[in-house]
Amino acid sequence: MSSLEQLRSRLADVNALNAARAIMDWDQQTYMPKGGADARAEHQGILSRMSHETFTDSTTGALLEKAVGEAESDDDKALLRVVRRDLDLATKLPTALVEEKSKLSAVAHEKWVEARATNDFPEFAPVLERMFEIARQEAECLGYTEHIYDALLDQYEEGATAADARAMFDALKGSQVPLVKAISEKPETDDGFLYGEWDVVAQSKFTEGLVRSIGFDFNRGRQDTAPHPFCTGWSVGDIRLTTRYKPYIGSAIFGSMHEAGHGMYEQGSPAKWDRTPLVGGVSLGVHESQSRLWENIVGRSRPFWSANLPKLQAAFPALAGYDLDTFYRAINKVEPSLIRVEADELTYNLHVLVRFELECDILTGKLAVRDLPDAWNAKYAEYLGITPETDSVGCLQDVHWSMGSIGYFPTYSMGNVLSYQIWNSLQKDIPNTADLMAQGEFEPILGWLQAKVYSKGRYLTPKELVKQVTGKPMDPADYLAGLTAKYSAIYDL
Ligand code: ZN
Repeated sequence: MSSLEQLRSRLADVNALNAARAIMDWDQQTYMPKGGADARAEHQGILSRMSHETFTDSTTGALLEKAVGEAESDDDKALLRVVRRDLDLATKLPTALVEEKSKLSAVAHEKWVEARATNDFPEFAPVLERMFEIARQEAECLGYTEHIYDALLDQYEEGATAADARAMFDALKGSQVPLVKAISEKPETDDGFLYGEWDVVAQSKFTEGLVRSIGFDFNRGRQDTAPHPFCTGWSVGDIRLTTRYKPYIGSAIFGSMHEAGHGMYEQGSPAKWDRTPLVGGVSLGVHESQSRLWENIVGRSRPFWSANLPKLQAAFPALAGYDLDTFYRAINKVEPSLIRVEADELTYNLHVLVRFELECDILTGKLAVRDLPDAWNAKYAEYLGITPETDSVGCLQDVHWSMGSIGYFPTYSMGNVLSYQIWNSLQKDIPNTADLMAQGEFEPILGWLQAKVYSKGRYLTPKELVKQVTGKPMDPADYLAGLTAKYSAIYDL
């Protein structure tokens, strides 16, 4: 067997272990009874260690070196590039640091739950301080040339730097803060009719029909429910979506559309790359661009609902009296809120911006963790015009920092920016997207995305892919023009 073949076989072992973990994780978040938690944590831990050990064993590196001379096809060369990157990321962090972070996460999670319940930030501050210290050490191990944040962000978005994020946010801030302010001076949109006690079976049926209509393939996937919607999968033939049913009917609809965007990206990877590291999305930012494209540009558009509102009204008769314009304005209501995950399309990035700036300031020592609540509140007042009444709905609002997920928030905004940039390229080739959406005809749109983005898997780097698909590097101009046009029309600005 050649070294390349041996390497492939090793990667297949790693893939199988990771697939088992992913199935366990999906099950845990969907169907597992509470009593399964302890054993599941144990099983997950063991599989995670086995996967990490198999991948980072010195044999993998040795095979990789030998395989370089054997790689002939472009696919093989791309595979080796991707494996080298993954191996670099997996081996640069010392095991002791990884273990310390894992242990601290467990403690930090409990402290965070308690601190949020009792609105007691000082209780959480010492573990958070330690978590940021670990992030600093991780960055030093991973290496960077300009900004400490570069090393952390690169793990999620290859090649992206703090300077890229800064430039993006400066452009977003300059346009979005005044736009949000102008909207806040307009009369409030009434979206009260979207709240109710909606039948769960009807929501499940309707959202499945919706994601099937845009092209999610149920022969190679399914949709279930989870408290926090996500998409996962373990081969191109088996991609799982989740959604949730809340009093706001948009939770299920847009949650499903969002996850289906992720899911169609995964289903679109070439089957020949299945079970290798070339399969799947190229980065968190590009992945998010697809979920946001289907959720917002398609799913929150007027043409889309001209086709689907009658179906929604048939499924939920309480919505029958509302016309398309009223419905369209309601699903696009802009209202600065405290919680990122509930934010509308327009204010969403401002939440991410707050996170990015605070993470940078803490990592570089400009801000002490104990001063975080004041800094958080000041930025919410400045960017969103609102101030959290408690830290529980302020800097303690979500789980990410307790897990040590520091350095990836900008990928959410990169996804928003790239969604419009890619859509504008698509529209150059398919100018009649509005007509297609109004006819419920999604094959040309999905086919284009499939050809240009999904079928590329991880073959290119994210920056190469964006350049190839849109002809330029990431650029907030398309996004800002798109948002300004959409919301100026809705709010009569
Ligand atoms: Zn997403």
